[in-house]
Amino acid sequence: MTQIVTGGTSGTDGTSLPQRLGVVRDRIASACAAVGRDPASVRLLPVSKTHSASLVAEAVKAGCRQFGENRVGELLAKSSEVESAGFTGVEWILIGHLQRNKAALVASHVRELQSLDSLRLARVLQAELERTDSTLRVFIEVNSSGEDSKFGLLPDDVGEFSRALRVYDRLLPVGLMTVAHPDRVQAEQGFTVMKILQTRLRNRDGGGWHELSMGMSGDFESAIAHGSTCVRVGTAIFGLRA
Ligand SMILES: *Cc1c(COP(=O)(O)O)cnc(C)c1O
Repeated sequence: MTQIVTGGTSGTDGTSLPQRLGVVRDRIASACAAVGRDPASVRLLPVSKTHSASLVAEAVKAGCRQFGENRVGELLAKSSEVESAGFTGVEWILIGHLQRNKAALVASHVRELQSLDSLRLARVLQAELERTDSTLRVFIEVNSSGEDSKFGLLPDDVGEFSRALRVYDRLLPVGLMTVAHPDRVQAEQGFTVMKILQTRLRNRDGGGWHELSMGMSGDFESAIAHGSTCVRVGTAIFGLRA
């Protein structure tokens, strides 16, 4: 069992991780109250990318059970480090682009894949999940801002893509995910598009598609106002990334 030293890690502003977590939870509660939503309808997904296993361990001690990572290698290394330090029951979620050649590695190690963006990836995941006789919760990643630099389906392609996914029965599509535009107004437009897409899918399929993963440290209040059910928060909890 590896020893992970925790405690005493403070942000640049001198606050502790539990304090910052408390602030984020309060902000989520206020954002929900402002629009009459139940805070329990919004999941906080701490994003630990670039941060150490010892910071993750601190977050686990402060009550976090799930962590988002955007790189496969880092996710696998950190999860095994956290586990061998004796922290059990921690769930890992991939929120970054997944290459097909790494899909098999991920399928059995993550609780959820929030960045499904191609049918070719779906096919590889399906094969691996059949082999291990398991299933995987997936979100379709949507490029809601249309920026060239972003992964994800364009909004107009989501309907057809989601229908084509039906043959991959080991994948359980639960919702949509987006990384919003950095500009506040354009981010809000993106969130609105996401809510419309979700409603369309729900109407078409008579339900399902409960999840909308949107909102990060800088924009999660707005995302909650637009119906987010999962906010992915890194900086506001773990501090600035190197
Ligand atoms: C890094 C990252 C986040 C968290 O961003 P912060 O601004 O640090 O809260 C959320 N989602 C994705 C996909 C990310 O890569």
